[in-house]
Amino acid sequence: MVVKMEKDKVVDAFLSGRCPICSLLRQDEFDLLCHWVGVSDEKHRTSNDRDKLLKSRGFCNYHFWEFERISGSYGSAEVGMGLIEEIIDILQGEEGGNRFLGLLEHYRNLDCPLCADMAEIEAGYIKELISLLDSDENRRKYAAGWGLCVPHLIKTIIGVKDDSLVSFLFEEEKEKMEQLELNAREYVHKRNAPLRWEQTDDEKNSWFRAIEKLVGRRGTKILLE
Ligand SMILES: [Zn+2]
Ligand SMILES: [Zn+2]
Repeated sequence: MVVKMEKDKVVDAFLSGRCPICSLLRQDEFDLLCHWVGVSDEKHRTSNDRDKLLKSRGFCNYHFWEFERISGSYGSAEVGMGLIEEIIDILQGEEGGNRFLGLLEHYRNLDCPLCADMAEIEAGYIKELISLLDSDENRRKYAAGWGLCVPHLIKTIIGVKDDSLVSFLFEEEKEKMEQLELNAREYVHKRNAPLRWEQTDDEKNSWFRAIEKLVGRRGTKILLE
């Protein structure tokens, strides 16, 4: 898959109010899901993509439910049918095939096409981010945002060769974490009226930012596999 990398898009994401990589991936994942929803349509029953989906044994748990949320019941039934047929073949145990091992094999070989595309796009953004942070101007822009979530910080640091950039990223992360901890503390402190009316936007967003900081957006793999 060829992904168009736009430097401006990555720099804009610095100010998305969340992890820039998570923010960019959210839109990409939605676009990819829409693509698969299109493919799940009845008239694509014999398409290459549909074939690819069957060969990869379907989506992972997370992406199947995300797919279902967008496609609705008919699209899910269409895709489900093809995969269920494969399971029925295994359960028939033809030619003395071991049904238990067949099932294990089926799920072991599950290679979610959405996870694969997302990993490729994610790696592209991280590479772009590292190259952008070569410049002081971009570092200033990065510092004005909320910085990376911890999983994306780890994945980024692995690819950085410049020690000054490593220090910059760690320092920024520490500062944002301290700010976030303070926001969350204030948010809880101002839980009841009349203090509640004094909650700032950053305090109101602290619960979401705290969770995303710790584990990345929904579906993010915390460590490299
Ligand atoms: Zn992230
Ligand atoms: Zn997946």
